[in-house]
Amino acid sequence: MRTLLQTSSEIAIRYLEDIGNRKVAPSGEAIDGIERFREQLPESPTDPEQVIRMLDEIGSPASMAMAGPRFFGFVIGGSLPAALAANWLAAAWDQNSALYEVTPATAVIEEVALEWLVDLFGLPNYSGGAFVTGATVANFTALAAARHEVLKKADWNVEANGLFGAPPITVIVSEEAHPTLFKSLGMLGLGRNRVIRVPVDGQGRMRAEAIPTIAGPSIVCTQAGNINTGAFDPIGEICDAVRSAGAWVHIDGAFGLWAAATHKYSCLTEGITKADSWATDGHKWLNVPYDCGITLVRRPHALQAAMAITAEYLPTESTYRNPSDFTPELSRRARGIEVWAALRQLGRRGVSDMIDRCCRHARRFAGELANAGYEILNDVVLNQVLVSFGDAETTRKIIADTQTDGVCWCGGTVWQGHTAMRISVSSWATTDEDVEMSLKSILKVAGKYASSGL
Ligand SMILES: *Cc1c(COP(=O)(O)O)cnc(C)c1O
Repeated sequence: MRTLLQTSSEIAIRYLEDIGNRKVAPSGEAIDGIERFREQLPESPTDPEQVIRMLDEIGSPASMAMAGPRFFGFVIGGSLPAALAANWLAAAWDQNSALYEVTPATAVIEEVALEWLVDLFGLPNYSGGAFVTGATVANFTALAAARHEVLKKADWNVEANGLFGAPPITVIVSEEAHPTLFKSLGMLGLGRNRVIRVPVDGQGRMRAEAIPTIAGPSIVCTQAGNINTGAFDPIGEICDAVRSAGAWVHIDGAFGLWAAATHKYSCLTEGITKADSWATDGHKWLNVPYDCGITLVRRPHALQAAMAITAEYLPTESTYRNPSDFTPELSRRARGIEVWAALRQLGRRGVSDMIDRCCRHARRFAGELANAGYEILNDVVLNQVLVSFGDAETTRKIIADTQTDGVCWCGGTVWQGHTAMRISVSSWATTDEDVEMSLKSILKVAGKYASSGL
């Protein structure tokens, strides 16, 4: 066992040490190599070291260098070394972290990590929460608490009786809500289409004045950090507008909520404390390994009522917090350990510096691309930059050629009818030099199209 685990960790360390020197996207040859995994199930055992070596030999070169410093696609962070190391140790512990009684250490570490997050984001200190797999499930989990609470106020127990025959719930979402939010609503029986879609402004922010008058059970889904522009809905204003109707206000802050952990960008998150629930990711901007999402709820009891295995009228006996009373899962890994390790290592200032640094890099991308004559489509308020290189086809070609050039990796998007390269700076590892190298590559590729007259 010792040799095997040492070999594996050596392989992983070497992978990470080399990641800045390789092309970000895997080569065609490496991708072809993946086919070697398609073999018949072996009849007999193999030396475990062989198995790991095979994984490294075929898998490592075919991986996308998301853990590296120059991956700017989607909104994807890397892994802080402290978080990765904690992940390794926690995997060795192999704790099924459902119940305090059996896994007290992980239950308490997660409880502390949740309290720290509530503190870091400046949320009401009695808020509760849960660690889940990502923002999709964090939205789902928070909205399950919302569904419980708004129907309870209408004398309906949704966990016991379901939605058939229940008082209808008005669900309000932004025209530019993240696609996964609609999926979460669908999984909750609230419907992907049975929602009121509120129009947005030129940055993708929900227009508060366009929210219709609401009454009865209602849930309003707002966004902190538009996936394309990074813009924030006017959350405080929305909370004030729907407060009198008793609506539950939810915030999808998958990456944007982290602005609340800074001095510089916390003006963007003004009013978030007025909301009822918050969803965010650990695996994006906190740079913990996949997968890690976080649900936070002002009234933990609503979350517990929606998620506990025992019904609300049968409270669990434990005087301690059982993670499974707040999560969709029973058996689960204690993914909050990596969050604890990242926060314990960085401290409040380290988190703030990491977010600030990414935003500064984003502004530099935007500044230099604009100087070179390319159009930045969004106000760069956070870590997201949308660049147009002219018409849609040229922009798409420049994105593809930049990916092939391999110095960095940026994806494409279509936002409010415009095709754009989306640059999202979310990694702890990105340095000024990485930004410089990446800009050089993008400008070199884009320059070819300019001179060829396309
Ligand atoms: C990334 C993202 C999601 C989905 O998060 P996952 O962690 O991929 O499940 C939801 N909402 C927003 C705003 C996002 O940026």
